[in-house]
Order: sequence, then C-alpha cells, then structure tokens
Amino acid sequence: MARVYNFSAGPSTLPVEILEETQKELVDFDGQGMSLLEMSHRGKQYEAVHGEVLALARELVDLPDDFDVLLLQGGATLQFTMVPANLLGERRAGAYAVTGSWAKKALADARHYGDAYAAWEAPEPAVLRTPRDEELSLRPDTRYLHITSNETIEGIRYPDWPDVDVPLVADMSSDFLSRPIEWSRFDLAYGGAQKNLGPAGVALVYVRRRVLAQAPNALGAYLRYAVHADKDSLYNTPAVFAVWMMGKVLRWLRDHGGVRAMAEAAQRKSAALYTVIDESDGFYDCPAEPRCRSHMNVVFRLPDDELQERFLAEAAAAELVNLKGHRSVGGCRASLYNAMPQEGADRLAELMRDFAKRAG
Ligand code: PMP
Repeated sequence: MARVYNFSAGPSTLPVEILEETQKELVDFDGQGMSLLEMSHRGKQYEAVHGEVLALARELVDLPDDFDVLLLQGGATLQFTMVPANLLGERRAGAYAVTGSWAKKALADARHYGDAYAAWEAPEPAVLRTPRDEELSLRPDTRYLHITSNETIEGIRYPDWPDVDVPLVADMSSDFLSRPIEWSRFDLAYGGAQKNLGPAGVALVYVRRRVLAQAPNALGAYLRYAVHADKDSLYNTPAVFAVWMMGKVLRWLRDHGGVRAMAEAAQRKSAALYTVIDESDGFYDCPAEPRCRSHMNVVFRLPDDELQERFLAEAAAAELVNLKGHRSVGGCRASLYNAMPQEGADRLAELMRDFAKRAG
C-alpha cells in the first residue's frame, strides 16, 4: 500500500490505523449486521459513540465543569454566525482581531448580527503577525474579543493567549487540541474537525454555560447554543460518520499523550522546517514574524515561480504532496497537523535543504 505524506491544510492527513479500523468496522458495526451509518442516531450503538466523543472532547482539554461540549454541523463557518447571534445583544459589541483571511470572514459575518468592530487590523502587506496585548483597542461595551488562534492561510498563531478584560472567543480550527487552552480567559472556542480532529462534517464547540441563556429570542432553533446543549448535541440528526471518526481520532490523541504531547510534537515538526528556512540564506522566505510562526501551517516562498514549480514537482515525486500555498497568497505551505508524523516533517526538511543547495 502506498501512502504519501499529505501536507494538505484541510481536510488533511488522518492516522492510517484509524482509516483501516474504520474500513473494518464499516460493513458490520458491533455485530449488528449493518454499519453505524445505517442505524438510527437514537439507537444504543450511536448513543454510545456520541457519548464517548463528548466525554473525550472534555477530558482531553481538562474542560471546567461550567462549560458544555457541542458537536455541530456547518463547520467553523456557521460559528462565524452563531457566535455573534448568541452572544451579542442590543447593547454589546464584538471585538475582532483581524489577523488574516479567516478572522476577516468571522468579522464580516458578525456584522450581520450586531455591532462588531476590528480591535486590531494587520497592516498590509507587512510581515504577518498577531497583535500584542497593548495593541488591541477594546471599546467599553465589548462583550468578547474574537481571535483566530492560528491563521491557516497566513501561517501565524498567537504565541500566548491575549490578556484582556473581556472574555475570549477563539476560532481554533487549525490548531484545536494541539495546544493547551487557558479556560479562565475563554467563553467559547470552536473549530471544524477536518484538520486536527477527523474528517469534515462536524464542528467542535466548547461554550461556557452562562453564555447559553444570553441569546436573543428571535433565533431559529439550530442557531441557538442552548438548544444543542439541552439535547447533548442530538437535537437533530448529527453528522454520524464524522462524529464516529472524530471519536477514533480523539482516542488516538489520548493514547498518544494528549494535547501536551501534540503541542511538543508540533513544536518539533515545525522547528525542523523553520530551521531549514532560517539557514537557507534567504533562499526560502517565511513571511511570518518569528514570534508568531504557526506550528501547524508552515508558509514559505522560493525565489521565483519556476523554482517553486520545480520544488513542488520534486516533492511530489518524493511522495510529499499538497505543498502548494493557498491560492490567495501563493507560495508553499506545509500543514503539520497532529496526525502528521515527525518523519513526514523530517523528509520534507531534508528535501528543502537539498533543493536549496542545488538551486541556490
Ligand atoms: N477558520 C479557520 C482558521 C480555518 O482554517 C477554516 C477552514 N480552513 C475555517 C475557519 C472554515 O472552516 P469550515 O470549512 O469548517 O467552515
């Protein structure tokens, strides 16, 4: 069987043992003569799977008791709507730190639901970075500060959680469960599953319980956090397949040392690439300020397009695939989510070093 090292930004690589296990269980789940995908989501089998996912999602992040765990559809994108729709009342405003493409989208959606403003905006087209605490300008009526903990496209992250006087809300899509979360600062954290947590189709949301009662009345059922919390995320038919696989990934995460081990691994994997970049005499250029470099998405450029095409072709021939940067920014991007083994990062680092030597 030929498996490549897949550096895709999402959907992204999954542990092969999980794919194999899923394949085995797919046709006949738990001796029922049918797959889990064909059973009622109200049945015993699915309920057990669902319950385990909620419990593991709680355990892995040491979630305080006054938080709920939700499994929702609509990806992180629906959270761009649900967050302001539930948290912003008449007289409260949402502050957004506009660090890159995803934060921009979150702010644009929030503006449909209330008073939302940019508490900081990245100066363009300067070096990419996240704001320092003292650069954030928060209005007195601010309900929350929304941050994008890791900007998947630009390849930057917050090295530390902002220390501000309002609760944080974080889009953690691209570094969820790869770094510890300091819950005392948060009211809510969310992310789509398709990077660190499983296949696409489900979003994981952690929400502080006191937030649930604050939603305005004029909101449809699906858009209310409280509805999902009341029903343990079984208000309507859940994304059965995605939740099932997320459970396998969460178990894998636990068995591989949990979030702390993932954070250390991410540091090591990304350092392997940043070291090559820094030692390349400018052959590779990383646009992120070193303090804010992402541990999940390593973004870099080669001196020109022709060299970049050659590099990508050589990488693909060496079974290192999906290294092209996002179409909006170009360049290269290596995504190193939890399921990417160290060997993948090392093989890429070796190719980068060798390529620079030959072409530089
Ligand atoms: N936020 C971030 C940081 C992302 O990387 C992505 C997806 N790449 C999204 C939001 C959107 O997520 P989804 O496709 O699950 O709606």
